[in-house]
Amino acid sequence: MTLLFVFFVINGCSGDRNPEPADLVIHNAKIFTVNDEAPKATAVAVKGEWIIAVGDYEKISKYINSESTKIIDAEGRLVIPGFNDAHAHFGPVDIDYIELRYTTDPTFITEKVKEKVAEVKPGQLIRGGHWEHEMFFDKTWPAKELIDPVSPDNPVILSRADGHSVLVNSYVLKASGITKNTPNPYGGEIDKDPETGEPTGILKETAQNLIKTGAVKIDYSDEEKKIRSEKEWDAAFDMAARDGVTSIQMPGGGDAVYMQKRKNEGKLTLRIDVAGSLTDDMKRLQKYDSLRKEYPREKNWIRFGYVKGFMDGTLGSATAFFFKPFEDKPETSGLPQMPYDELEKKVLICDSMGFQIGIHAIGSKANNWVLNAYEKASEVNGRDNSRHRIEHAQILIKEDIPRFAELGVIASMQPTHCITDKRFCEKRIGRERSKYAYPWKSLLNAGTKIAFGTDYSVEPLNPMEGLFAAVTRKDRMGEEGDGWFPEEKLSMEEAIRLYTLGAAFAQFMEERKGKIKEGYLADMVILDHDLFNISEEKIMKTKVDYTIVGGRIVFER
Ligand SMILES: [Zn+2]
Repeated sequence: MTLLFVFFVINGCSGDRNPEPADLVIHNAKIFTVNDEAPKATAVAVKGEWIIAVGDYEKISKYINSESTKIIDAEGRLVIPGFNDAHAHFGPVDIDYIELRYTTDPTFITEKVKEKVAEVKPGQLIRGGHWEHEMFFDKTWPAKELIDPVSPDNPVILSRADGHSVLVNSYVLKASGITKNTPNPYGGEIDKDPETGEPTGILKETAQNLIKTGAVKIDYSDEEKKIRSEKEWDAAFDMAARDGVTSIQMPGGGDAVYMQKRKNEGKLTLRIDVAGSLTDDMKRLQKYDSLRKEYPREKNWIRFGYVKGFMDGTLGSATAFFFKPFEDKPETSGLPQMPYDELEKKVLICDSMGFQIGIHAIGSKANNWVLNAYEKASEVNGRDNSRHRIEHAQILIKEDIPRFAELGVIASMQPTHCITDKRFCEKRIGRERSKYAYPWKSLLNAGTKIAFGTDYSVEPLNPMEGLFAAVTRKDRMGEEGDGWFPEEKLSMEEAIRLYTLGAAFAQFMEERKGKIKEGYLADMVILDHDLFNISEEKIMKTKVDYTIVGGRIVFER
């Protein structure tokens, strides 16, 4: 006993005095660790891919070797685990598309088009969009004069955020033969200047069908295509790094072979789970089985995630599946994507083979059916810790809320859908049914494991929008009051937790990812604002200053 005690003391002391030097130390930080045993810290040490110590400077300084340790002085900034997007359709980004989302100053559009014209050949089509005139300082519709001076020799088409209107330049109007004398087509409008009668460049709804771009076709060689494809992938990875997203879980699809190639080249800057489809086709299931053997759960970078199915459609298109008809479309209750028996059969087979299952369900009946099928699978196959998921879990009936926790079903939710859909949710399904729409707080209180994500590219990948949505339930444009069904709001701490540890749990990685803790993967972000101490409107303006994945700095502002 005494010997053992002495051994520990000596070993402990020498370990404290001369620990293995860290590769990276962050200090002078406000660390939110998501580790309940020690939720706060000011410094962290990383060796290779892993966090080796968390604490204060006194503790961490022992890991600093002045020659080999990279040191980041966080200057008091907030450090949290890297964001893990549990539902993102991640893929190559169109590098030629001019992104205009959240533009407030219309002259920004002029600048962006000017830049693009300088890059492309005369006659080449220039596309872009996501502008929203309601966000402009003057809230007025843009007109062709904004882009004509910088694009005399190129067709330019810039879509509004909702895709229902476009701004085109005079080049396109001319190529399309649209003049002051062109009548509005059925279901569309050619916006015209009230004084001159000239088309303004705004084409609404079916008027977009009149467009003939007159664009010069660009033929790329195979080599050029390859280079472009690589650039588009680079753009996607750059976006994720800039947004602080260090893990992505694909909801179906994903190319493990390409990811492996990128990893071999040292260009894989986030961890990714690829996915299969919910099926009862044994040939395909065997293919998924070999894929998961090659990319098993035990790995940390490229893994086979789950098999994905669809139970219904969306609220926006009135195809989400409900017990009762839509208020504004009484002839339909939505569109189940398969009969219940087929769902149950597929779930039983995939579950029996030990696959994790994730099924898209928006409407309350869709969610109810999926829960029923998961319940049946657990009765028949008797497997536990399956961690089956419902993707979106948007609108529930009250009775189904406790069933998630009871059945161990994960609610994989996307907070931004709430603030996008709340604009028409009550019109579509009424106030009463909306009570349990995006009910993350009720689910959490019932003990549900929730994973947050974005559903990129339906919504932007930027996690700050999700955090804003989760804690405010308010419109992005700002809104008075307490938010939509404010009893469902989360605290910032809860929201960050679901976006990190919650998402890690959904992929069976909570014992090594999603916390800033010794023995965890060193995935972290340093933010320019302290999310815990800022006003609501600053949440979405918060930027990532550093993104660290597996101890490597993949983005630095
Ligand atoms: Zn999706």
